[in-house]
Amino acid sequence: MPHRIYVDGEWAPASGGAAIPVVNPATEETFDEVPRGGPKDVARAVEAAAAALPAWSARPAAERAALCAAVAGALGERADELAETIVAELGMPLKLTRAIQVGSPIRTFASMPEIADGVAFEERLGDSVIHRDPIGVVGAITPWNYPLHQIAAKLAPALTAGCTVVLKPSEVTPLNAFVLADVLHEVGFPAGVVNLVSGFGPEAGETLAAHPLVDMVSFTGSTRAGRRVAELAAAGVKRTALELGGKSPNVLLDDLDDTAFEDAVRKGVAACYLNSGQTCSALTRLLVPRERLAEAERIAAGEAETYTTGDPRDPATRLGPLVSAAQRDRVRGYLHAAAEDGATILTGGPDAPEGLERGFYVRPTVLSGVTPESRVAQEEIFGPVLVILPYDGEDDAVRIANGTPYGLAAGVRAADPGRARRVARRLRAGQIRINDGAHNGLAPFGGYKQSGYGREYGRFGLEEFLTTTSVQL
Ligand code: NAD
Repeated sequence: MPHRIYVDGEWAPASGGAAIPVVNPATEETFDEVPRGGPKDVARAVEAAAAALPAWSARPAAERAALCAAVAGALGERADELAETIVAELGMPLKLTRAIQVGSPIRTFASMPEIADGVAFEERLGDSVIHRDPIGVVGAITPWNYPLHQIAAKLAPALTAGCTVVLKPSEVTPLNAFVLADVLHEVGFPAGVVNLVSGFGPEAGETLAAHPLVDMVSFTGSTRAGRRVAELAAAGVKRTALELGGKSPNVLLDDLDDTAFEDAVRKGVAACYLNSGQTCSALTRLLVPRERLAEAERIAAGEAETYTTGDPRDPATRLGPLVSAAQRDRVRGYLHAAAEDGATILTGGPDAPEGLERGFYVRPTVLSGVTPESRVAQEEIFGPVLVILPYDGEDDAVRIANGTPYGLAAGVRAADPGRARRVARRLRAGQIRINDGAHNGLAPFGGYKQSGYGREYGRFGLEEFLTTTSVQL
């Protein structure tokens, strides 16, 4: 049966009847299609969400959170199907897809009861009662690179906060959202509380951002589209949360011994190449002391060459294809331009990987010999491309690290953890890893500068969807 949009608790065809093809990036074959929702569909969904808001927001937060926990359980039961779906539409290797693309959204939904418990939805302040109320109807617009993870990062806290939602997932990887909507329906979210309209950004997305009944737009995607969404939302004075692009630095300080330095460079390659480099928080600029540049170049190139590129279903594969022909061409375009501008391509480059004529593959690449101001060191490439930059002293490292329009994430490696923390505190980035500190799914995540604003995950992520009412007694 063809996919349908999910509005007011029912599956229905989109008004125009048109469809968007879904392409497998490893085979280049269209294997499915989703409805091309348009302005009428979005309007119906927003109206349903507005109608469902009073009853849903009046339910106790613990009940709302418990339904989210039930979603986690139901997603867990469909984990294999979800992993297969996301591999087919995105192309990330299967094992990583299972762990990250499926595991993380399950953990996000599961965390809601504990998080809701930590929020003071009501408190006394002298003769006033302070209520933390849901902001209202939320338009959620999400990207393709961690599709279900980004959806969960918005839906779970918004629903727990008492908001109702219209989701417009990425048109490139929409299928996982249909599985989620099915789960939300099955576990018993009331009609209208969550709605799903697939469609293109400039059509369905813009209608959602501009709709007068939408109180908040939570957007994850490119800085270009985020700016447009914020413009449209501003006309209606809507709250916006923008999770945008990055060009994150990984600073290796000069006190690392040879073994630690080698380990830091190798792990730095991994922190850049995850999901074929299609990770907003990827550490794409490796900053090393100038006297260790040659050593870093040798280790990074050697490490990159160990990344087997190919079929995401093959257990030996570490790098799958890029998500689309457009992404592949964009990344290769950067590599051609870098070569013309005199960059040194230590390994990889713009040509197709050997033996992979089909599929949107790009060779794992390491660039050096560029200035911090060059395009490849300033712009988000969104592919498996690491840029190595030398620095002269700690102040210079901080200057280069902070010297892009972005500020999403950063890494610092040092033998002296106190020094690593001091340097980390000078970086203008929303999430910083010191000495490979483990990922914390409850820690806030979000940007400085053109990486956006707003924070996701944990208590901070829930509070994004709340506003404050004071009642004087
Ligand atoms: P994109 O901006 O092309 O699309 C993101 C979403 O916005 C999609 O649903 C798309 O349909 C929609 N959209 C596009 N144009 C729109 C418009 N004019 N109005 C309304 N909606 C519109 O981004 P993408 O290519 O899907 O994702 C990659 C980008 O997302 C990268 O820049 C990456 O850094 C960023 N990203 C950021 C985070 C974060 O948390 N900061 C996380 C993941 C991805």
